[in-house]
Amino acid sequence: MSEIERAAGILRAGGLVCFPTETVYGLGGDATNPHAAARIYEAKGRPRFNPLIAHVLDLEAALRQAHFHAKAIALAEAFWPGPLTIVAPRRADSSVAELTCAGLASIALRAPAHPIARALLEAFARPVAAPSANRSGRVSPTTAAHVREELGERVELILDGGPCALGLESTIVAIDAAGGAVLLRPGVAPREEIEALIGPLGDPRSGGIEAPGMLASHYAPRAELRLHASAPEPGEAYLAFGAEAPAGGLSLSPTGDLAEAAANLYAHLRALDATGVPAIAVAPIPERGLGEAINDRLARAAAGR
Ligand code: AMP
Ligand code: MG
Repeated sequence: MSEIERAAGILRAGGLVCFPTETVYGLGGDATNPHAAARIYEAKGRPRFNPLIAHVLDLEAALRQAHFHAKAIALAEAFWPGPLTIVAPRRADSSVAELTCAGLASIALRAPAHPIARALLEAFARPVAAPSANRSGRVSPTTAAHVREELGERVELILDGGPCALGLESTIVAIDAAGGAVLLRPGVAPREEIEALIGPLGDPRSGGIEAPGMLASHYAPRAELRLHASAPEPGEAYLAFGAEAPAGGLSLSPTGDLAEAAANLYAHLRALDATGVPAIAVAPIPERGLGEAINDRLARAAAGR
């Protein structure tokens, strides 16, 4: 039996399988099985009201679960498979368990591009509920080793696909029945490209839906974080950008490449945090393109302690 078939069997039995996606590693369970959803919340130590993204193979599978406005269809056609999550009204006949959606009238759907994620979805032939494969309040894992560190014995299987290509979560856009669109979480898919397709995205506070991932404490390392720091103070480790790091530090991207910085963000934060330093100073990151998502994560990590 192939490892993918074994993974699908575990999901069918209500077990948990961690798998790589192009964004970060996911902690997967059968989205239609509330026991599996409960096990995910338990493994993460995540509050119950924090709904899970249901992963599907394609738009056709998504349309069996949600009512997609024309804007949602346009986004799915443009970005799927890929790093965009669409939150839409849940169909009354959706097979996804209510607990997966934390009892909300909406559902979050994404078709990932990673070949291992897609092979798993194809073999399982049902939606897979998967939040990032970290304990609640910790940074998202971008390698199988991080997943093992975070969740080890709490899951039946970890599929190792090497480091994640993008290394930052999906962008989340909510589109209601009337086509009202809001950005719930900045992420890998750039706001500019989304707005070019469907027009301006509103602020989440203006809509009725709030992404619990926006809680200030969501992405917190143990060390204190000092942001927009042009140089480290004594006793701080430095997370550089656009330059090499001084001794004891790391650089998100020596050449100032935002995509490289995004791919390195969690692994570097985690590595510096693991040295036991009391504080990490982070270089200023430009607020454009992927910089918006990186700064959003850093601000939450800093606020969350
Ligand atoms: P993660 O998978 O850990 O990157 O987090 C998934 C994010 O999607 C969290 O911020 C969830 O709260 C959010 N999310 C999932 N389902 C919904 C929904 N129905 N409405 C709003 N946000 C959602
Ligand atoms: Mg997460």
